[in-house]
Amino acid sequence: MFRLAALVTVSLAPLSLGAPAGDAMTPLADVSIELGGAVGRRMDAVTRNWLLRAPSANGGMLAMLRLRDRQPPPAVVPWAGEFVGKYLLGAIDALRLGQDAELERTVRAVLAELLACQDADGYLGPFPKSQRLLGHWDLWGHYHVLLALLAWHEHANDPAALASAERIGELVCRTFLDTGRRAVSAGSDEMNLAMLHGLARLHRATGKQRYLAMAREIEADWQKAGDYLRTGLAGVEFFRTPRPRWESLHDLQGLAELYRITGDERYHRSFLHHWHSIRRWDRHNDGSFSSGEKAAGNPYRNDAIETCCTVAWMAMTVDELRLTGEPRAGDELELSLLNAVMAYLHPSGSWCTYNTPMDGHRQASHHSIVFQSRAGTGDLNCCSVNAPRGLTMLRQWALMGRRDGVALNYLGEMTARWGLPDGTACRLETKTNYPLEGGIRIVLRPARPTEFTLAVRIPAWASGARCRVGNQEVKAEPGAYAAIRRTWRDGDEVTFELPMTLRAQAGDLEMAGKACVYRGPLLLAWDQLLQEADAPPAGAVRADALAQAKTNLPPRDEQAERAGVYAP
Ligand SMILES: [Zn+2]
Repeated sequence: MFRLAALVTVSLAPLSLGAPAGDAMTPLADVSIELGGAVGRRMDAVTRNWLLRAPSANGGMLAMLRLRDRQPPPAVVPWAGEFVGKYLLGAIDALRLGQDAELERTVRAVLAELLACQDADGYLGPFPKSQRLLGHWDLWGHYHVLLALLAWHEHANDPAALASAERIGELVCRTFLDTGRRAVSAGSDEMNLAMLHGLARLHRATGKQRYLAMAREIEADWQKAGDYLRTGLAGVEFFRTPRPRWESLHDLQGLAELYRITGDERYHRSFLHHWHSIRRWDRHNDGSFSSGEKAAGNPYRNDAIETCCTVAWMAMTVDELRLTGEPRAGDELELSLLNAVMAYLHPSGSWCTYNTPMDGHRQASHHSIVFQSRAGTGDLNCCSVNAPRGLTMLRQWALMGRRDGVALNYLGEMTARWGLPDGTACRLETKTNYPLEGGIRIVLRPARPTEFTLAVRIPAWASGARCRVGNQEVKAEPGAYAAIRRTWRDGDEVTFELPMTLRAQAGDLEMAGKACVYRGPLLLAWDQLLQEADAPPAGAVRADALAQAKTNLPPRDEQAERAGVYAP
């Protein structure tokens, strides 16, 4: 006999002003969320042991910007300009989730230093004056910094951050739009042309046509590179497009943004095609994305599955959820969060992997891609700065606004606070041991009785799910939202029971003859620490015998401790 443990070491609301018409659901601008359970403990650990200490332990993250025109120039990897932007994107969403005072001081200090590094012409990267935006992955680096500045502005309404973002946009326009020089001439196409997404976001934040005009020029350049719009409309599978590397997913986010701006259905269709294509051909069984840093058209390949690629896939999936309001996108985010993200982030919060294989060891990115570090940036690499976003993106999708109320996409333990459209403060408490157990109790606490719809995602695997509001049974269809409209009063409760049965999925190609086993949203893993035998037994799992399998959950008081056990 052997035991399987979860890989996760248990092993309208206010449609905000200016919300794009094209979105079926939108992130709640004012939501704050306290996360409980294993995900909450991981969030605390990542905040304490990474987000708070990464800037001071890696002074080079900002020093490389200050030293860019000194001799000798800093020897940095071509994408080093992204580090501070990626770090801030995770830290700002973490701050918006939890309002941690110490994290706020840290983020403000990093932002102040970052703004001080911006040159008069708007440049905010690590490369010398003669090369600004013309090569390396410099547009890509600025894209991440631009998104971070916009995220901070959205949170703190800080005009200095918006002005800094605009100076980046202006520099891009002066370098390319005003001169006739093409952005595609900067090379590293899928990386640098992702700037389209940033410029489209900047256009929506400011209403300025110049940024949209520049985005349109990059859209024309796409035809010489990833050709995302036309291949999507023609139904070309994403892995067969000219630029199937993971960075292209941020270009694809530009399609969603252009749809929000223009209402042109072609952008919508193309985006949805690519999302479905990636999900079908390149999303692995644990919700992760990429084989050897790109789409390969084969989710069974055992190539490296890079952390940055999974983060990009989740960011794109948040866009899919926003555009369609369909629960399958929420199912995808849950799968990625509970399996890929909780596996690539070590329980200590201090390190993550570069590669999180479907069946193998997890190694610290500090070791496997140490070539990205330099004096002053000992812990920094593309993945270490990006990894927290897999967790902190919960701010955008856990509880979302829709025209008739709110959609609860995240089913784990949490307390969320936000404002209803009429200004009524509301609290939603989810009390549960999900995903270890299937019982979920939701308590609504509006400051005064208010009518709205609470739509709760019922995962597609949850056949036999049951829902009750008070004594009344409510329809709970798997793969749909259970939408409950009523006048909610303080203390009203909704309960769900999701059947946590085991199910198997057969492998193919490189994984032929193997199967993976799920319990609810969790992909189970063989963990040597929990075994009496030294190696996984071959051929011991019979899919038709799963119904008879016994599930042993650790006692509740041990679950937190076990979540901290190191399993390679
Ligand atoms: Zn990476």
